[in-house]
Amino acid sequence: MASTDRLYDQLMEIAFNLWWSWQPDVPEIFRDLDELMWRQVNHNPVALLRRLGKAGIAERAQSAALESRVLYAYHRLQEYLSSRRNWGDHHGGPLKVRPVGYFSAEFGLHESLPIYSGGLGVLAGDHLKSASDLGVPVVGVGLFYAQGYFRQVIDANGWQQESYGGSDLTQIPVEPALTPEGAPLLVRVDTRSGPLFASVLKVRVGRSLLILLDPSVKENNPADQRLTTHLERLYGGGQRERIRQELLLGVGGLRALRAIGIHPAVLHLNEGHCSFVTLEAMRQAMREQGMDFRQAMAHVSERAVFTTHTPVEAGHDRFPAELVEEHLGPMRDELGIDPYTLHGLGRIRPEDPHEPFCMTVLALKTCQRANGVSHIHGGVSRAMWNGLWPQRQTHEVPIGHVTNGVHVATWLAPQMRRLYERHLGRDWMERIRRREVWRAIDLVDDGELWETHRYLKELMFDFVKRRVERQSLARGEDAGDIRRRLGKVNADCLTIGFARRFALYKRAWLLLNDEAWLEKLLCDPERPVQIVYAGKAHPQDDRGKEIIQRIYRLGRDPRFEGHILMVEDYDINVGRHLVQGVDVWLNNPRRPLEACGTSGQKVLLNGCLNCSTLDGWWAEAYDGLNGFAIGSGLVHRDPSFQDQRDGSDLRTVLEREVVPMFYKRDARGLPREWIARIKHALRSLAWRYNADRMVVDYTTTAYLPAGGATTSVLPDQSDLDLPTVVQWLARYEM
Ligand SMILES: *Cc1c(COP(=O)(O)O)cnc(C)c1O
Repeated sequence: MASTDRLYDQLMEIAFNLWWSWQPDVPEIFRDLDELMWRQVNHNPVALLRRLGKAGIAERAQSAALESRVLYAYHRLQEYLSSRRNWGDHHGGPLKVRPVGYFSAEFGLHESLPIYSGGLGVLAGDHLKSASDLGVPVVGVGLFYAQGYFRQVIDANGWQQESYGGSDLTQIPVEPALTPEGAPLLVRVDTRSGPLFASVLKVRVGRSLLILLDPSVKENNPADQRLTTHLERLYGGGQRERIRQELLLGVGGLRALRAIGIHPAVLHLNEGHCSFVTLEAMRQAMREQGMDFRQAMAHVSERAVFTTHTPVEAGHDRFPAELVEEHLGPMRDELGIDPYTLHGLGRIRPEDPHEPFCMTVLALKTCQRANGVSHIHGGVSRAMWNGLWPQRQTHEVPIGHVTNGVHVATWLAPQMRRLYERHLGRDWMERIRRREVWRAIDLVDDGELWETHRYLKELMFDFVKRRVERQSLARGEDAGDIRRRLGKVNADCLTIGFARRFALYKRAWLLLNDEAWLEKLLCDPERPVQIVYAGKAHPQDDRGKEIIQRIYRLGRDPRFEGHILMVEDYDINVGRHLVQGVDVWLNNPRRPLEACGTSGQKVLLNGCLNCSTLDGWWAEAYDGLNGFAIGSGLVHRDPSFQDQRDGSDLRTVLEREVVPMFYKRDARGLPREWIARIKHALRSLAWRYNADRMVVDYTTTAYLPAGGATTSVLPDQSDLDLPTVVQWLARYEM
């Protein structure tokens, strides 16, 4: 029994650190405990272990050779946590050094913690994971949404329905944050219409810590039921709920950090939702260091870094003056400023009383360092916010760029990881940012690479078919029909993946516009093509839902059976399966509206090719041979003309390049030219488009200088010297 207790405790400790999710062999331990249940709990090990209980574990321990595997994983976790690069103590009291406070409204870490909606959240999750791997001290600050983001169900008419779940805090890997005295922490933020409260939860992400503010506490006015419900949803409320969430995130978030003894050296604002944090930092500086408002503003802005993410105007939060005054009034009193000054911080023209308060403007005015998320997006942002620096030419606007990257261990298939281990060296992942590591990819045997990809493609189809079958049955479809349709799916067929939010600018319909052409493309008897779609439309976006409906109907059209599939409820899990198994990843946003787009980077690592308009990261990544480009990157003033031309360019590239190259085989059945492109893509891109490179870029160009380091002591970018980073960040306090 004692050994079962120990086993159970070790499993729980592993389950309570999201580190498990990016190890190739640890998820398999949980899966082997009970494969069906593992799926039912959405790959949530805490829920799995609680359901099985100690007795269930004991029962299974023998058959799965569990004990040694758990022990091995457990020791690896301990080793990871206490490695030479360790910089803080997550297990006992407060961190010992002053980290970067990374504020974000979403964190996409794993499907079992649904506090993200899309790319912004996944990026934040990947940032924390890489910071942990590298040993850069970053503490995430976010909101806990008990009801999460909506779950998508497509009804028998093909229409998207939304539902909200509920999280049970005992079933997910969170623990309550305590004050240094050991009491549960309750954060309070006053507004003119009464106080708002939140409790604080801790999530372990390897060596990084994430704290989440949870507004579902009894102290919040219970009469205001609607309000509480909407605070529990990500992007679920109106403006009033939204500003309250953002008040909790920025102001409450920094207070929560303080209360648990964390004093960030640098603030990083991931998108504008959290911009109120700079006001709170100013308030603290005035109170604790005796500064006046102007001094506090200079002090804080020097230490604050802002990343903007959206070139779409409507994507920037704007609030009317009354809402701002209602919620920021008490803050304004403490800052000792008049309404004009406060509102001016959120306006391009402070003197214009009709200009709403924009969170991005607040961030740009209170953070000395600002950046977009790709080369092209840096330029778009400079043009977009030129009004804040009217004296300057667009290219002089002080907004740079750091191109996003993805956390490789999270998105890479274990089979591909092992292949890299064999050919690039066992420690390839630690050296991933070095260009020379990827030269060895040329030595990989084409057949081995292709076989690995083929196997992953089959795994992907197993997943897709299982999902589609379950979802179709739930819709009441005939089991025979479903089987017939899915029976036509063929893993030898060129398979295109398209999975992302169904925002209009992403143009999910672009490929579908000409049905006669589509039939010719997909149903060619010699060279057939399949497409797998996934993605959610915003609940208020009926046009997005119409596109989903169209895809749904085409999938049931006798012409296209087995050629067009739609997997419901796109999330990290669906994404992971698709990016690991398709042949081509299609991305056709209307340029220049895709700030970066990271799903194509996930695909790249897994040996799939990108086919994309020259927007976001692809505009700087594409070199003519490392994937496919749709069009030449020209932007036309008339969007409908642009759509027409991009549609025709898309058809051309598929017809003339993608399909012929995929089906051109040698005597061994290998598509040599295609494989050469995969290898060239890996060699030319993998060292750059990963989150380690991104975190190092932020550290050297933003965190260190914002933390007060002078250029002369900055570690060389190509070989980040972590002890120096830690020293510098530790020395400076907000
Ligand atoms: C990676 C990812 C995204 C972002 O991908 P884009 O290319 O920006 O659309 C969105 N949602 C999920 C679930 C992801 O994993």
